[in-house]
Amino acid sequence: MKSIENTNFNGRKVLLRVDFNVPVDENKHVTDDTRIVEAMPTINKLLKDGAAVIIMAHFGRPKKGGFEPEFTLQPVAKRFEELLGKPVLFTQQLLGSGVPEQMARDLKSGQVMLLENIRFYPEETKGGEDLARQLAALGDCYVNDAFGAAHREHSSTAVIAKFFPNDKYFGFLMEHEVTNLEKLMHNAPRPFTAIIGGSKVSSKIGILESMMNKVDNIVIIGGMRYTFTKALGGKIGNSICEDDKLDLARDLMRRMDEKGVKYYLPVDSVIGDKFSNDANTQIVPSGEVPDGWESMDCGPESCRAIRDIIMNSKTILWNGPAGVFEIPAFAKGTSEIATYVAEACKQGAYAAVGGGDSVAAVKQMGFANQMSYVSTGGGAMLEYLEGKVLPGIKAIQD
Ligand code: ADP
Ligand code: MG
Repeated sequence: MKSIENTNFNGRKVLLRVDFNVPVDENKHVTDDTRIVEAMPTINKLLKDGAAVIIMAHFGRPKKGGFEPEFTLQPVAKRFEELLGKPVLFTQQLLGSGVPEQMARDLKSGQVMLLENIRFYPEETKGGEDLARQLAALGDCYVNDAFGAAHREHSSTAVIAKFFPNDKYFGFLMEHEVTNLEKLMHNAPRPFTAIIGGSKVSSKIGILESMMNKVDNIVIIGGMRYTFTKALGGKIGNSICEDDKLDLARDLMRRMDEKGVKYYLPVDSVIGDKFSNDANTQIVPSGEVPDGWESMDCGPESCRAIRDIIMNSKTILWNGPAGVFEIPAFAKGTSEIATYVAEACKQGAYAAVGGGDSVAAVKQMGFANQMSYVSTGGGAMLEYLEGKVLPGIKAIQD
């Protein structure tokens, strides 16, 4: 792996791609700066070496082409400056105006500049080579630390790398992600359990198919398990279900059986008569949800069974909440599972948690630092575990 670790960047102008796509509130204050914080080790290493650092990042999904006030990186620049403890050079002027170009030329060792939202250039998401060339001209080497965008073949995440055939590197965050994901992909200590949940089977087909070739157990939780329950003839009331995926669910279960992978579907469910915290609730067997009721979480008996599976595992991958954890009344299953996974880690198991909502849940419940590894990439992590080649990673390795 071409890491920045063993390279000295003294006197160099480094083009660094990061994932600064953070949430902001209506007053344009960054509400969660995790992604900025996580890029700091790489930035600090480059600055300590004596590099000048030119940062490329995207923010939201601007569509118009050109500057849009709603999507400016200005609020991010402000928070970044606070974390860095020194000025960040930033301009809302775009490339071609000459302003960022001049700023880059004048940039000195130890200085940092941030380019305005890279998605203001419509070419970026198309992987345009002209934009990549324009960006490449600003610096003399390329470091990619944007794992969250590594599954995209964009100008700043992948295409730009070709202009630095001998001078392209992974940042620390990227390296950490790849090292950890590789642990799950190859020779993970057994028993290996994948806990897969979330709202839709359709978004988890790839990871289920990939994991069934690697693991001993698959625990299927969240809303998506109701497609499986219905496929098995259960009554699911108003629970979330993808009716066009019933055959697929049957096929997945058949293939897991064939491969000798044990899959577990929760036996009981917490159901509600509406999708809110003041819903009436009851606990019923999973395949016996009455009409007018909707399953929102897994029940206590299921939690006990899942605990046994987790405590008997040496490797655990968890993606997808067990229930509608955003509503406190239905967060129990997810918080229980977080407790068990943390317990397993204390006993020496290796556990990885990934997925936008899963990571949010684990953080909100205070378990993030008790897991072996929490991925910063949602889609990127899923695609990696599906066995796909991520363009942002390949571009550095080629
Ligand atoms: P991740 O982002 O971690 O990959 P997903 O996006 O697949 O996870 O799924 C997260 C969503 O699944 C959450 O918003 C949660 O409310 C929802 N969910 C979990 N269980 C249920 C359920 N029983 N009914 C409806 N939605 C559910
Ligand atoms: Mg999600």
